[in-house]
Amino acid sequence: MASRQPLVGGNWKMNTASSEADALAGAVASFQPGACQIAIFPPFVYLDRVAAALRTAGSTTLVGAQDLDHRDNGALTGQVSASMLLDLGIQTVLTGHSERRHVIGDSDELVGLKTARALDAGMMCLLCIGETLEQREAGETDAVNERQLRAGLKNVQASTLGNLVVAYEPVWAIGTGQTASPDDAQNAHAAIRGVLRSITDDATADATRILYGGSVKPSNANELFAMPDIDGGLIGGASLNADDFAAICTAASDSATTATTTAQTH
Ligand code: PEP
Repeated sequence: MASRQPLVGGNWKMNTASSEADALAGAVASFQPGACQIAIFPPFVYLDRVAAALRTAGSTTLVGAQDLDHRDNGALTGQVSASMLLDLGIQTVLTGHSERRHVIGDSDELVGLKTARALDAGMMCLLCIGETLEQREAGETDAVNERQLRAGLKNVQASTLGNLVVAYEPVWAIGTGQTASPDDAQNAHAAIRGVLRSITDDATADATRILYGGSVKPSNANELFAMPDIDGGLIGGASLNADDFAAICTAASDSATTATTTAQTH
């Protein structure tokens, strides 16, 4: 099986003032990522200063955008394109976050257009999927994930899939303090990898990182990241606290080290 480098993303959402963004970026720049890749997603207006601060500090942490428009430019008030992000050196982006789907109204089709645009532009794209509480209680978790994944990848060219990351984020767990149990999350991730296998091929499905998101904290990160199909996390609230975010990144790094040691002794 392919070994996958863990990735931890910190989604700041519509939080921080510039002074807080500077302080958080400074703290993240001092992290020791170990085996973990780290990405942070500040608000659009702070992307440039946060990216500059991390560059100056020599940090390997990626800076990404929380969304993008699928069109390149034009009369689209308030929108931000892939080429604008790339112009700032921003090469990572989220699509389909549950707040974009359920609060702002991004449809499955729109998420598919945005995902294809990001990947076509050569960006790393974290495509977020996940079921609501109602859908979970109706036993529809895997069906919803499959529908959102297939729609998200509908227009994507196979040659760009190396830059795809999937984030499974059950909507009922985001910002609620409730987390999927490691076993439930693992089952959802394994099913998502199965769908990837049927859409793409074994090598792509085995190489694609699938992150878990939904109230990940230092106290539950280790057991979640120990699961074989959980390749790190997308973190909301806890990413605004530098100590908590550092502890979660360390848990992801440790999970990679443990997996390597286990593989070597078998
Ligand atoms: C998120 O917004 O992607 C998220 C997982 O939030 P939280 O960690 O706060 O649940």
